[in-house]
Amino acid sequence: MAFLMRQSRLVAGTVKSGLRSLSTAPSAATSEGSPNESFSGVSFQLSPEQREYQETARKFAREEITPKAAEYDRTGEYPWDIIKKAWSLGLMNSHIPEHCGGMQLGILDTCIVTEEMAYGCTGVQTAIEANSLGQMPVIIAGKKEQQQKYLGRMTEEPLMCAYCVTEPGAGSDVNGVRTKAVKKGDKYILNGQKMWITNGGHANWYFVLARTDSDPQAPAGKAFTGFIVDGDSPGLTRERKEWNMGQRCSDTRGITFEDVEVPAENVLGSEGIGFKVAMGAFDKTRPPVAAGAVGLAQRAMDEAMRYSMERKTMGKAICEHQAVAFMLADMAIGIESARLATMRSAWEIDQGRRNTYYASIAKALAGDVANKCATDAVQIFGGNGFNSEYPVEKLMRDAKIYQIYEGTAQIQRLIISRELLAKAKQSQY
Ligand SMILES: Cc1cc2nc3c(=O)[nH]c(=O)nc-3n(C[C@H](O)[C@H](O)[C@H](O)COP(=O)(O)OP(=O)(O)OC[C@H]3O[C@@H](n4cnc5c(N)ncnc54)[C@H](O)[C@@H]3O)c2cc1C
Repeated sequence: MAFLMRQSRLVAGTVKSGLRSLSTAPSAATSEGSPNESFSGVSFQLSPEQREYQETARKFAREEITPKAAEYDRTGEYPWDIIKKAWSLGLMNSHIPEHCGGMQLGILDTCIVTEEMAYGCTGVQTAIEANSLGQMPVIIAGKKEQQQKYLGRMTEEPLMCAYCVTEPGAGSDVNGVRTKAVKKGDKYILNGQKMWITNGGHANWYFVLARTDSDPQAPAGKAFTGFIVDGDSPGLTRERKEWNMGQRCSDTRGITFEDVEVPAENVLGSEGIGFKVAMGAFDKTRPPVAAGAVGLAQRAMDEAMRYSMERKTMGKAICEHQAVAFMLADMAIGIESARLATMRSAWEIDQGRRNTYYASIAKALAGDVANKCATDAVQIFGGNGFNSEYPVEKLMRDAKIYQIYEGTAQIQRLIISRELLAKAKQSQY
């Protein structure tokens, strides 16, 4: 793919070790992407830097994440020790701009790292990925001073942030957000309740979407504003940690805002454009989320493959039974296609092109593939697969969230179909 033809360069002076000495900058914006555009300049070879990112992340996942994953899953403890080591190697926050002290890697580079880390444990990876989600609105819409203040500090020490959009009554229907921000002098007063906020209990600051237009009929494109809210703001409460089906070491909480004062200088972009900012972040974060799902799927296949070569029934290894071998083949089909779709969606945005259609395809496909692979891995393990002494039941529990967060499987299909229809209508005229 042409993404590999990008010029690479060393970032001087920002980092001492790990990936940080290897970053490459995304190419300049070119044209708008579209569903039927041809995909020229195809090459599937990773650049030397990308191979290095991959190897660093792979080694880290095998040595630092995998051995601890089951215990973190059992206790639900936040994986601070892993996060701190990942931070020191530059395995997180990789897209923070250089002017904030970051590496400014492209989304494809991030996906390569994410897949490897997710292979170790997607609970850990989600905690790390939620930082990217929280940071992305600031990268997209923040002023230089806001970026230096809030992103800059994350390159100096391992800090977490969070993306606060969902509410008890508004998930897929973001237009239903009821958290309000009312301007008073040079401040806004925030009141409301957010739900399912990843990193909620550990965030140094939050991206918060709130309604600023008092007219309930105001369109989404005008009704909301995005804010950066400091984690220690009086009136902000981090509710209890939720005990979820999977990815249990990732910290998910409700966050309550009660007369929280936010300086007007913390508005992202301008008043009224919050919906666009909040949704725009997904074009850059859905490819890495898809890459996480691919990492989980690959892990499920590898575990199933290994087990099927050792376990014998009716005189032969179970991988020799065609019914089992075909399950493995279907896993490979899913993984290879989901990985390609993910790379395509990352490549598009790295070219500066609109990738909404590709990002939704990648996220939907990879989420479904992860669930199919994990479920089939449990099947291949038989009774052992149903037991927590073996690794695949965790994978099955962890996989489910990929069909829910960052837009459900149904919402991705809604986006894809809208993009298709828009294109079809356009071509009629
Ligand atoms: C572990 C976890 C972590 C999360 N992290 C974050 C986070 O960091 N920040 C954040 O803001 N949010 C976060 N979320 C929230 C997540 O994004 C939402 O749960 C998700 O968008 C779905 O919203 P909902 O739960 O309100 O479900 P609903 O919107 O109520 O949907 C319920 C069902 O209806 C379907 N549905 C809804 N509308 C339509 C439609 N128009 N067409 C077809 N089907 C439809 C959905 O696909 C789903 O199957 C997290 C959630 C979880 C569980």
